[in-house]
Amino acid sequence: MKTLRFILGDQLNSNHSWFQEVNDDVVYCMIELHQEMNYVKHHIQKVVGFILAMRSFNKTLEEAGHQTIYKTLNDYDKKRSLQQLLESIITENNFEVFQYLEPDEYRLDKQLKDFSKQLSIKTKVFSTEHFYTDRTDFSDFFKNKKTFLMESFYREMRKRFNILMKNGNPLGGEWNYDQENRNKWSSKSPKIPNEKQFNNDATEVLKMLESHGVETFGNIADNEFNYPVNHKQAVNQLTYFCNNLLQYFGDYQDAMHTEEVVLFHSKLSFALNTKILSAATVVEAVTEAFYNNEQISINQTEGFVRQVIGWREYVRGLYWMKMPDYKKLNYFNYNRKLPQFFWDGNTKMNCLKHAINDSLDNAYAHHIQRLMVIGNYALLTERDPDEVDNWYLGVYVDAIEWVQLPNTRGMSQYADGGIMATKPYISSGNYINKMSNYCGTCKYNLKTKTESDSCPFNSLYWNFLDENREKLSNNRRMKMMYHHLDKLSHEASQKIKERAYDIINSPDDY
Ligand code: FAD
Ligand code: SF4
Repeated sequence: MKTLRFILGDQLNSNHSWFQEVNDDVVYCMIELHQEMNYVKHHIQKVVGFILAMRSFNKTLEEAGHQTIYKTLNDYDKKRSLQQLLESIITENNFEVFQYLEPDEYRLDKQLKDFSKQLSIKTKVFSTEHFYTDRTDFSDFFKNKKTFLMESFYREMRKRFNILMKNGNPLGGEWNYDQENRNKWSSKSPKIPNEKQFNNDATEVLKMLESHGVETFGNIADNEFNYPVNHKQAVNQLTYFCNNLLQYFGDYQDAMHTEEVVLFHSKLSFALNTKILSAATVVEAVTEAFYNNEQISINQTEGFVRQVIGWREYVRGLYWMKMPDYKKLNYFNYNRKLPQFFWDGNTKMNCLKHAINDSLDNAYAHHIQRLMVIGNYALLTERDPDEVDNWYLGVYVDAIEWVQLPNTRGMSQYADGGIMATKPYISSGNYINKMSNYCGTCKYNLKTKTESDSCPFNSLYWNFLDENREKLSNNRRMKMMYHHLDKLSHEASQKIKERAYDIINSPDDY
């Protein structure tokens, strides 16, 4: 039967069973959708990256002999919805069957389910064959549980998929080497080799986006997109990571530095989230590198594997268990807008200036910049979680709601009231100083709290604890923080509050 198979921009898995043989009755369809470019305002590199990856994927399919229908923004009237476009493709070509891959995003899942329901031809949805787990494995694992500990999920994943295991026990004797992964990086050693560049030319795509008035923000240097856009490039990036960076990944995964954006991180999230690379391919390459190279220790390898089979699968499971309500949670009832400097990087706080400018320049910041600098600031200054979500969803090249939302609203903003994190990820300037060289060249004084040049994070941190005493002081993991807070005199607390609210109310002055 004449079949139309629809593929979304984050479903570019060339190893999928769909593509294993050429069938003359099957046509694959991809559309550069206006709706995907403006559901939030995106970083220019994010939009460009998806388009380049989709075009490259279409070319791969054609070269393998598959029939395709590919629509760029130039090929249709922007007023036409996804449903209208698919309907006309089906009618014009007399398709008898419509098939699609399971969307990872709730919004698109609903849209395609609704569309399929009203079609009069046969429809079927297939797995993307990308993840280790199914959507519902998480809720099955945590059935009847009140808390969702990532560590227990992760251990189950290690056992179930036999990753870094020996005779039923974790290789090396420990499940988790996180405590050893807390080094600050100095620019002298270990040396970081030059970042791998892919120089994917974006000139034509940029012209097209401009001519269609697609609104974006952020920068793209030399009209080039430097993340992998196809399987070959992604495997190159993976090999580069295994050969050059993995041996220090764990040690420096929390480190931040003014001269290095990526440090020893893999920069694989775009390739993973567009499914150009499967999670298993990444984990197999990394464990293989560990077994074959004695320079790579278990704590580096375990630290990395935990991100992919632990955190990544965990957030997806949590997303599907808790959506759509999760998107509305606002535990602290915060409703302030984001400061202007989130869009132009113009702040005097050196840590934020670097983390935000890195994000605006590269559509990338690594985990600790996202969590302990930008997210920490947003939470301590009482920003609306909707605003925070939209910024994160727009700015990062790897941001797709299933992974962005639990990380931002849950882990970073604690707006879910502790579903994902056992306590809020907050800190004063001390943590930032411990993990980076930002404070050394900052105009603010890390040592004080309430002077006119005191590090803003210091007063914000104590003020946040004080303001949320009712909601947080009974948390076992926060007892020590409240113990310290209680030692402050009434006068000191008042001064802290005054300074904190000045920062909160006039963020762009700092
Ligand atoms: P590496 O540090 O090299 O890690 C390897 C891989 O592990 C990543 O590519 C990613 O696929 C996975 N991973 C690591 N941490 C996480 C995590 N917490 N959740 C899910 N996967 C993880 N990641 C996204 O892919 N998309 C997002 O939109 C996103 N938003 C985030 C928002 C906030 C507030 C925070 C704190 C984290 C967010 N993360 C997100 C997780 C993490 O920051 C990125 O995956 C990572 O920085 C990507 O860079 P990398 O490929 O160099 O990662
Ligand atoms: Fe950031 Fe404070 Fe350090 Fe400045 S002193 S870089 S504001 S933590």
